[in-house]
Amino acid sequence: MPDVEIKETIDSLLKLVSLYAPKTDLELVRLAYDFAFDAHKDQIRKTGEPYIEHPLAVAHILAEMRIDPVIVTAALLHDVPEDTEVTLEEIEKNFGSEIAGLIAGITKLGKLKYRGVERYIENLRKMFVAMAEDVRVIIIKFADRIHNLQTLDALPPQKQYRIALESLEIYAPIANRLGMDEMKSQLEDLSFRYVYPKEYQRIKNLRDEKIKGMECYLPEIINKATNEFKKAGITINEIYGRNKCLYSFYRKLTRKNNDANSVYDLVAVRIIVPTVADCYATLGILHNIWKPVKGRIKDYISQPKPNGYRSLHTTVFSETGKIVEFQIRTEKFNDEAQFGVAAYWHYDQEGAHMPRKEVRWITELAELQKDILHKLSDLEEIKVDFLQSRIFVFTPKGDVIDLPEGAVPVDFAYHIHTDIGNKCTGAKINEKMVSLDTELKNGDVIEIIMDKNRKGPSQDWLKFTKTHTARSRIKAAQKKSLTGWLRAVLPKK
Ligand code: MN
Repeated sequence: MPDVEIKETIDSLLKLVSLYAPKTDLELVRLAYDFAFDAHKDQIRKTGEPYIEHPLAVAHILAEMRIDPVIVTAALLHDVPEDTEVTLEEIEKNFGSEIAGLIAGITKLGKLKYRGVERYIENLRKMFVAMAEDVRVIIIKFADRIHNLQTLDALPPQKQYRIALESLEIYAPIANRLGMDEMKSQLEDLSFRYVYPKEYQRIKNLRDEKIKGMECYLPEIINKATNEFKKAGITINEIYGRNKCLYSFYRKLTRKNNDANSVYDLVAVRIIVPTVADCYATLGILHNIWKPVKGRIKDYISQPKPNGYRSLHTTVFSETGKIVEFQIRTEKFNDEAQFGVAAYWHYDQEGAHMPRKEVRWITELAELQKDILHKLSDLEEIKVDFLQSRIFVFTPKGDVIDLPEGAVPVDFAYHIHTDIGNKCTGAKINEKMVSLDTELKNGDVIEIIMDKNRKGPSQDWLKFTKTHTARSRIKAAQKKSLTGWLRAVLPKK
C-alpha cells in the first residue's frame, strides 16, 4: 500500500466525537474550529502546512481517547491567544468561561524565557502550578506535545533534541505519575528516537526480532487459554497481545545488563474480563494450565500501584518452555490504566464526570518534582536557591500559590500583598487556627487573619520566614519605623 496520509478534517473530528458522546453540541465544536481557522489563517507551520492542522490534530488525539468534548473544543482553540491577535476575552465571550479558563491555563504554560537548567526548572514549576489549578490543562498540553513530536522533523536538529529531551524528562514522568500510560508511552517513544538515535535503532531492531520469534507461539497460547476459559464458563471481553513501549524496553534492558532474555513482558497477553471476581478466576485457570514463574505473580488489584494502576500480573512457563506474561483486568481498570487521571473526563456509557480539582494529586506530584530536582542536583551549574523545592498551597478561593519548602503563613501573606503581610495577625490552615510560624504543606488551604490597626510586621518574623519577598518587606518596615522614631527623638533644627 502506498504511503498515503489520511488527512484529519473537522468532519472526521465531529464524527469521532458524536460516536462516543452523542449528546455533544457539535455546532459549538464546529464553531471553535471556524474561530481558530480564522484566527490562524495567515500562519504556516514549520512543516509547511496551514497552522490549523496542528490544533485539529491535537483535538483528534484527545477525541481518540474519548475525552470530554469540552476538552476537545478547548484543544481546537489552544494556540489562539498565544499566537494571534485574538484575546482571551473574545474567546470567553464566544465560548464561555470554562473553555476560556482552560485556554488561559495553556497560555500561561506558554513560552519560557529561560535557558539551560533554569529553563528546565521553570518549565517544571509552571507545569505543576497549571496542574494544581486544573489537571485538564495538562491533558491538552500532553496532546499538544505529542503532535509537536510527531512533526518534529521540520525543526532544526538543535531544537529537535531540546524538545525531545524535555518531553522525555519532564512530560513523560508526569504522565506516568498521573497514570496516563497511553500518553506516557507515546511521549517516550516519540522522543527516544531524537534523544538517543543509535540506541533507538538498536532497541527497535532487537524488539522486532524478538516479536517475530513470539509470533510463532503466542497465537497458540492465546487459543489454548481461550478454550479453557470457555470450558470454565468465564466470559472474556477481550484477549490480545500488547507490545511493550520501546523506551521502557530500553530502560528495562539497561537495568538487566542488556540481557533481552530476562525481559518477559516485551509482549504481554492482556485479558479483559467483566468483574473483579472474574480476574481472580482467570488467574486461577491460567495457573492450572501452566506453571507460574516464582515471584512473578502480582496482585495490583488488592494493592494498586501509587499511580492507581490496578491489574493482576502473572508469568507462566508454557509447554514449549517459552515464558509468557499475562495481565488480567476489568474494562474499567483497563481504561484507568491507559488514561489515568484523564479517565475522569473519559466518556463511558454513563458519560460520568469527576470533580475538576483533584487536590490529592498535588502531594503525589510534589514527590515526583523532588525526584526530578534530585536528579538535576548533580549538575553543577545549578543555582541552589533556584532549585529549592517548592510547595503548592491554595487561597480560600482556590488560587494556587507556590512557595519554597518550609514557608510559613507570613510568607504566604506577603506573597499575596505587602499590606496583607504587614497587617497579618493570625492564620488558618485548612480552617484551623495556627501560629504564624507553622510550616505549610502541599495542598494546604490558607486564610490570613488581618488586623487593620496593626502598625507593621514584628521583627521576630525574620526568625522563621523563608521567602526573599517576606524578609525584605519586614526589614524595610523596620528601617521605616526606625527613621520615624529617630525623627521623633532627634531635636528639630
Ligand atoms: Mn500547540
